[in-house]
Amino acid sequence: MVLHRIVRAVIMGPPGSGKGTVSSRITKCFGLTHISSGDILRANINAKTELGLLMKSCIDQGQLVPDDVIARIILKDLKSLEQGSSWLLDGFPRTVSQAESLDDAHSVDTVINLNVPFQTIKQRLTSRWTHLPSGRVYNVDFNPPKVPGFDDVTGEPLVQRDDDKPETVTRRLKAYETQTEPVLEYYRSKGVLETFTGTETNKIWPHIEAFLQKKFSMCNQNLA
Ligand code: AMP
Repeated sequence: MVLHRIVRAVIMGPPGSGKGTVSSRITKCFGLTHISSGDILRANINAKTELGLLMKSCIDQGQLVPDDVIARIILKDLKSLEQGSSWLLDGFPRTVSQAESLDDAHSVDTVINLNVPFQTIKQRLTSRWTHLPSGRVYNVDFNPPKVPGFDDVTGEPLVQRDDDKPETVTRRLKAYETQTEPVLEYYRSKGVLETFTGTETNKIWPHIEAFLQKKFSMCNQNLA
């Protein structure tokens, strides 16, 4: 894979729209550095850092953490990358204020928007169960554990992530609608937004890949 220029990309879409899967395919295919705000926050919670402890209740309740806090973290991460590296932001920006903070430092050239119906997402997220020690994830509809409620490898119990519980999912989708959808408008007006609509990641992906290949480079790697 060869990138012919520096890429500053953002992936957007409601929680559970497949951003994580699509991001890892994009980074594998095009060699961008993946920066996920949710992963950074969860790593802080797991490591029990001061920031993690402060932000945990916000995240567990499906609320957004304050703009200045997350903007500072992400901009610092971007600064620490090698000059000239290409990156893909996932989960940030989530508000217009965050998008403006990002713009002050870097201009984004590509925004991939995953447009997945809320009904599909609700079904997807609330049927997701996790084995916390390993991070293994099951879906009761299409990837169920062999024994309901228990991890295939260790036999330990599975739990539903606090932010995957039905009432929290509804709150996260509402936050997306009110706070994040205006960011789509922000990028649309800058002419960098590309929207992909569908209910299945594997069906949306070939369109994204073709679009990015055309925009960036060629990619011949096989994806898992
Ligand atoms: P995610 O895994 O991207 O859905 O993020 C999990 C949670 O982290 C979200 O529900 C928010 O509470 C918080 N979070 C992640 N990114 C941001 C952001 N850019 N702005 C505010 N809160 C965020």
